[in-house]
Amino acid sequence: MSLMVYLDGKLVPQEQAKVSVWDHGLLYGDGVFEGIRAYNGRIFRLDQHLERLWNSARGIMLEIPLSRDEMVEAIRNTLRANELHDAYIRLLVTRGPGDLGLDPRKCSRPSVVIIADRIELYPEQLYREGLEVIVCSTRRNIPEALDPGIKSLNYLNSILGKIETARAGVAEGILLNSEGFVAECTGDNIFLVKDGSLLTPPTSAGILHGVTRAAVMQLARQEALEVREELFTVFTVYAADECFLTGTAAEIAPVVRVDGRPIGNGRPGPVTARLRKAFRELTNSEGTPIGESVSGARAAT
Ligand code: PMP
Repeated sequence: MSLMVYLDGKLVPQEQAKVSVWDHGLLYGDGVFEGIRAYNGRIFRLDQHLERLWNSARGIMLEIPLSRDEMVEAIRNTLRANELHDAYIRLLVTRGPGDLGLDPRKCSRPSVVIIADRIELYPEQLYREGLEVIVCSTRRNIPEALDPGIKSLNYLNSILGKIETARAGVAEGILLNSEGFVAECTGDNIFLVKDGSLLTPPTSAGILHGVTRAAVMQLARQEALEVREELFTVFTVYAADECFLTGTAAEIAPVVRVDGRPIGNGRPGPVTARLRKAFRELTNSEGTPIGESVSGARAAT
């Protein structure tokens, strides 16, 4: 079934959702994006995602051509047009068409794209048995060059890591920062459990400020678990009782092997399970309502 895609103010069938080859999003990865999720008719942590999008845009001096309220409406309309209640939402703002030079001032009009699709869930087995990861030899971008806090359309740093994980036949890869401390994974943040406390790298390690990461830290504190944001090396990962990854798509995913070494007893641990349950309750209980479908919204196009 063809999806309706939001493109610069219009909902168009996916086959017609095209941007210019002059768009600097394509030519240079010049733009920003978000990955958001809707659960049961509600958009999870939409404000936090939009805050990050606006911060990313500021980081590259990109003016988003919609107000925050207009963006919320555009997302809700896109979900309604596709009659989606559980969805993955990909929101992009590109620099727009310019010339072949780098200068963003030559790009007159940023493009806004919203794709809402059915969420492809990770196999249940992955959560039951836990996943295996490697430590990549690719290092995370240094913040002094390109801050990983900016969720830009240039994801080559993560893709280089992903190539390593694919070659190793594992699900994810840990990226160290330039100083050798654990930063995050190619598309997820990382947490450890040690002696009943949670440990995660601080944002100053050079990481994406994950929305799921923030939600998990909040939940952990509500569950009276200590959460420490501290720099640590791979050795601390190997010696952890539990390890898990957080991300919009993965939610909370247990890690049971790192570089072929079992973490803890090599099975998903109790703290991870407890947080997964609390997270499930959170996604079911809060969020921005998508609203009722306008009947005939699909048929009209
Ligand atoms: N780190 C990176 C590099 C990511 O791409 C993502 C996914 N957006 C995350 C962490 C997790 O962030 P979030 O919980 O906001 O999806």
